[in-house]
Amino acid sequence: MSESPYPYEAPASQALFDRAAAVTPGGVNSPVRAFRAVGGTPRFMVSGTGPYLTDADGREYVDLVCSWGPMILGHSHPEVIAAVQDAVSRGTSFGTPGEGEVALAEEMVGRIEPLEQVRLVSSGTEATMSAIRLARGFTGRTKVIKFAGCYHGHVDALLAAAGSGVATFALPDTPGVTGAQAGDTLVLAYNDLESVHEAFHRYPGEIACVITEASPGNMGVVPPRPGFNEGLKDACRKNGALYISDEVMTGFRTSRAGWYGIDGVEPDLMTFGKVMGGGFPAAAFGGRADVMAHLAPAGPVYQAGTLSGNPVATAAGLAQLRLLDEAAYDKVNAVSETVQSLVTEALTKEGVVHRLQNASNMFSVFFTDREVRNYEDAKRQESFRFTAFFHSMLEQGVYLPPSSFESWFVSTAHDEQAVQRIADALPAAARAAAEATAA
Ligand code: PLP
Repeated sequence: MSESPYPYEAPASQALFDRAAAVTPGGVNSPVRAFRAVGGTPRFMVSGTGPYLTDADGREYVDLVCSWGPMILGHSHPEVIAAVQDAVSRGTSFGTPGEGEVALAEEMVGRIEPLEQVRLVSSGTEATMSAIRLARGFTGRTKVIKFAGCYHGHVDALLAAAGSGVATFALPDTPGVTGAQAGDTLVLAYNDLESVHEAFHRYPGEIACVITEASPGNMGVVPPRPGFNEGLKDACRKNGALYISDEVMTGFRTSRAGWYGIDGVEPDLMTFGKVMGGGFPAAAFGGRADVMAHLAPAGPVYQAGTLSGNPVATAAGLAQLRLLDEAAYDKVNAVSETVQSLVTEALTKEGVVHRLQNASNMFSVFFTDREVRNYEDAKRQESFRFTAFFHSMLEQGVYLPPSSFESWFVSTAHDEQAVQRIADALPAAARAAAEATAA
């Protein structure tokens, strides 16, 4: 019998994964959770407290995924849990308006100047899908510009890869998306303003909107180059298109006012999710009041949701946002900087070629020697080194995103002890990365 490359496999997680695979495609409810990029058995978590997660085998991990961003205060924050318990005790869904959703919308609008009105939905995917529909309804145009490597959820029209060359019509990225659904999407290289100008020139009066991650975190962390977002906004203004800033990941994480709080570039529409839901399915889109006025029932563009503005989700989100003051962001930023320097130090010591890129407290490691400015650059990294690094960290009780194309996330709950555990695990992980060879 050949020896498993993952000697620390978790039997309880494996048993759950086997059960899951029988009733759920691939054994998971969202693909990246399946560890396909790194191999091995995904850990089934049973609880989370502060910076730690505990799996079904009883092993504890320092969590550097934070539920892919939402858990910015750590797990089971007492005030968020109390708000949820209070809301639950009054019922879980009414299908009517309620004060909680108004209060959450007020909190969001109060933080972000260009966000004049918001509509609450249940996932980031719904938010971007609805924002695009609204942009098309408002402008009466059909085409959408997106950037390769930017993920906006699994919206049909946005699951499209770049064709070669500038402004090539996109081909569907997945079976099930028709050419017609993807055919109005233009996929351009990120950080390349010239291609945006060319697209507007080539399709005058046809482009409804440009959608971009405010600062991308879905090809690893690849911040906009100076002037890029401003350039997008200007190109949209000049050509009568809407500029949509997708802040599902960056919103209320990178600063009190998200990425807008950092670069100050005013979008026409914005999308949110993750942090604003406090670990529950809550998301939103919003922006200019004159554009939002086109949304039903105020206007003709239809959009709706049975569980939109759910009282439990809005209570969790509101409690979390109210706790996120400047001191909280200072804390998250400081933890992030410490972890980033520890990672660089360990990799450098082992002679591992890498680039650490960050956008405020979001960061990721690319195993490459060049700056990563777009998706093509990101794909040039030596991902096999990440696989070795990931498994060594996991074995030592540190849970990283199971892919080299994802941001790492920290929280206010990552205290000295948690950071020390990361520091202790890094030398062996860096060595594993150094010794790794391409398959
Ligand atoms: N937009 C961005 C920038 C995201 O990072 C994500 C999810 O990771 C989404 C949209 C989709 O959000 P959801 O997974 O809640 O549908």
